[in-house]
Amino acid sequence: MPSSFEILNPNVRRGPFRAVLFDFDGTLSLIREGWPRVMVGMMVEILRNSHLAGESDEELWGLVERFVMALNGHPTVVQMARFVEEVKLRGGTPDDPREYSRGYLDRLMRVVRQRWDLLESGRVGPVEWVVPEAHAILQNLQGRGVPLFLASGTDMESIRHEGQLLRVLDAFGEHVYAPDDGDPTFSKGQVVDTILSTLGLRGEELLGFGDGVVETTEVKRVGGVMVGVASAEPGQTGVNPDKRARLTAAGADLIIPDYARQHELLGWLWGETTQ
Ligand SMILES: [Mg+2]
Repeated sequence: MPSSFEILNPNVRRGPFRAVLFDFDGTLSLIREGWPRVMVGMMVEILRNSHLAGESDEELWGLVERFVMALNGHPTVVQMARFVEEVKLRGGTPDDPREYSRGYLDRLMRVVRQRWDLLESGRVGPVEWVVPEAHAILQNLQGRGVPLFLASGTDMESIRHEGQLLRVLDAFGEHVYAPDDGDPTFSKGQVVDTILSTLGLRGEELLGFGDGVVETTEVKRVGGVMVGVASAEPGQTGVNPDKRARLTAAGADLIIPDYARQHELLGWLWGETTQ
């Protein structure tokens, strides 16, 4: 049994794979790590200030966090639409979900821009804001000649900017999918279907990497193999237990904390090693 990754599905298909799908935030980039605290914090604050919550802070935080994380991977406005339902359920009068999205992005971007500045000025290198060894796994996959696809619920402009700053974008060429201007119709499910139809692949030939429920569900829907990336925040190491639990429940076949053992992992997934 390999020790570098956790196998949840003992019957997982081992490749070769003909396309690989990556999520961006939390899977390659750590620039937006900490976003759940910003989003959940904003929602809890709104419910509190509107006197719409009778729960303790801890209960309220837990409740909001559950629905926010269950929708991780969808465009932000989808999470806000769910929040609107919550406000209505509690007898409040919600704003438009797009208004909540703007408020959230304002808060998040204050943090993200500081990180952009650090990267743009060269005070920190890309390596410090990617999941460990992200560049190595992309390079390994490129060497195998397998086309790589990037799909993110974050807006396209930010993905392009952050992907360049982190030097991970080139590996994907034109295969970068994200919502333009927060387009709420964007879905990772459609990206998966597009990959299969344009390349003429069977679902089982698709390999996915992601830290979110949505991409995990979508890759498993078509019968692909999903590696759950239970990544930690920058400076921390090891499996993030909350992410691991969500990815396990969503049907991930394997769990890794990062790509430190990418060489062994890909060798095993491609059926080149027996252990
Ligand atoms: Mg993610």
